Amino acid sequence: MTRYRILPLAFLLVAASCAIAQSTNAPDITVSAKARAIQESAIVVDTHADTPQRFLDEGFDIGSTDPNDTGHISLDKAHRGNLGAEFFSIWVDPGTNEGHFAKHTFDLIDSVYEQAARHPDRMMMAFSVADVERAHKEHKLAALMGIEGGHSIENDMHLLRDYYRLGVRYMTLSWSNTNEWADSSGDINDPKVEHHNGLTDFGKQVVLEMNRLGMMVDISHVADKTFWDAIATTKAPVIASHSSARALVDAPRNMTDDMLRAVAKNGGVVQVNFFSGFDDQAYWDASRAQAKERDAAVAAFIAQKKAAGQTVTYVDTDRVEREWTSKLPRPPFHVLIDHIDHIAKVAGVDHVGLGSDFDGVGGATPQRMNSAADLPKITQALLDRGYSADDIKKVLGGNILRVFRQVEEVSREMQAQPH
Ligand SMILES: [Zn+2]
Repeated sequence: MTRYRILPLAFLLVAASCAIAQSTNAPDITVSAKARAIQESAIVVDTHADTPQRFLDEGFDIGSTDPNDTGHISLDKAHRGNLGAEFFSIWVDPGTNEGHFAKHTFDLIDSVYEQAARHPDRMMMAFSVADVERAHKEHKLAALMGIEGGHSIENDMHLLRDYYRLGVRYMTLSWSNTNEWADSSGDINDPKVEHHNGLTDFGKQVVLEMNRLGMMVDISHVADKTFWDAIATTKAPVIASHSSARALVDAPRNMTDDMLRAVAKNGGVVQVNFFSGFDDQAYWDASRAQAKERDAAVAAFIAQKKAAGQTVTYVDTDRVEREWTSKLPRPPFHVLIDHIDHIAKVAGVDHVGLGSDFDGVGGATPQRMNSAADLPKITQALLDRGYSADDIKKVLGGNILRVFRQVEEVSREMQAQPH
């Protein structure tokens, strides 16, 4: 989920009347038989998709085959891309859910289960590496869940454990908002926000309890100091479920080379985000240039909805966001591969994977990456850059499954200790 939304109605009217110039004449990427074979033999795991917002707000059915649907994820698209496992993001907008974060968290979790129940022949809930492997054998999409934003636990360890029991297998310590125990990269320079110099003592206890439970500690979105505190505290490998490289794009949410090396030393994995803004400096700069205007528009849009007695849903804002993002030129496909390649070079090929942020970026992905059906193009591009089949399979899912397995092991060891 990327905070990048809500526009003035005036802009919408302009956008709706303009031709959208983002198509390209460059030829599409042809996926060779060799790349296809690698893709088909791998367990492909993506660690971040915001589709649950669509399930809950829009009543979207993951079984949809609507050719006009611009969403990134459906069972059909997953099948075409040989996506084996998806971590669905449980993201509670802190702005619109003040006072009932847990309620909305439970509703989103429920929405994932309901989709799996609707399509038992093609999708199953998964809670472990063994479940992911079983789903792969049965040719079903393994549905896992990760919470995006530590505010969902409402400063309550009981809730954290309940989320684990319901199947949540990672949690980002913060989203774009600093919560009461973890600083976020999203507001770290905002003097109006009370910060903690990283993780508080309670925040460190949360990390250790996640280790004990077997819930992956996710450092995507956190402030730099929170990252280093998490690395110093955790007893298990960490993940960045959807983060790119700061050496290539200077966004505070991207990871520095020092961080990449620290994750490698920790045994963890960085899953590259497909959002154009995190993968392409020009796109990032262009979106930043509009930020002031956009922020002013946010207030106006919300005020207008409120005055009309309406609530602002994710689907409303996503629609608006797509109008906005479609005005900026999409970067070429290779920028996404550049981040995978950079992380593989700095941290090692054992420490990089895929964390698309599908359905969370308003359609703002690089050219040629329009849905989960396009995942085999990554395999082709890595082959073209000289990666071996074994290394490609690590990137596609092997690395995150290795980390997940280690997190399960650490959990078993910690639970065997008296506490
Ligand atoms: Zn996010």
